Amino acid sequence: MKIFCIGRNYADHAKELNNPVPTTEPLIFMKPPTALLISNRPFYHPDYSNNIHYEGEIVLRICKNGRSVQPEFASRYYDAVAFGIDFTARDIQDRLKAKGQPWEIAKGFDRSAPLSKFVPLADLKNPEAIDFQLMKNGEVVQHGNTKDLIFSFDTLICHISRYFTLHTGDYVFTGTPAGVGPIQIGDTLDGYIEGQHLLQCKIK
Ligand code: ZN
Repeated sequence: MKIFCIGRNYADHAKELNNPVPTTEPLIFMKPPTALLISNRPFYHPDYSNNIHYEGEIVLRICKNGRSVQPEFASRYYDAVAFGIDFTARDIQDRLKAKGQPWEIAKGFDRSAPLSKFVPLADLKNPEAIDFQLMKNGEVVQHGNTKDLIFSFDTLICHISRYFTLHTGDYVFTGTPAGVGPIQIGDTLDGYIEGQHLLQCKIK
């Protein structure tokens, strides 16, 4: 099982971190399977970072094996969405980026990918414009809609599958909107898709 993640896929988020907005191709990175945190289990804050950020994201579930998928078939390769958090050790990421080194440990550390249960796309009113929200301690901190994605779900499927064979059961974290911020021990994060409470993650 592979976990693909997309960086800078909402212009408002790229801007808040003073990153350029990608225009030609999506920014892909991966997390290992040990990053998954499921069943609303708590996240135990590790001691190697003092600035872990939440990034609330819509996650696709891959339902078909494929490589070099063509645009007209891309939508057949995912069938459900979940709410995921792409925890990012921003201090480690900034240090590595400054040196031009890979981000792996800032993004792929253990339990850095809380993931809710999946909702079939067929059950959503408008799969082209999925509304999602992340709350921290009862306050909305991120509010996104997938109609604002720079690279659509289909474009991501085509692009990822040029380089990596997709397998049933792989996941794609599709990027975060503006409003990312730090977590502290004692915080509670809640993720909603179309008003449905799908994820809870307590920081311990
Ligand atoms: Zn992210």
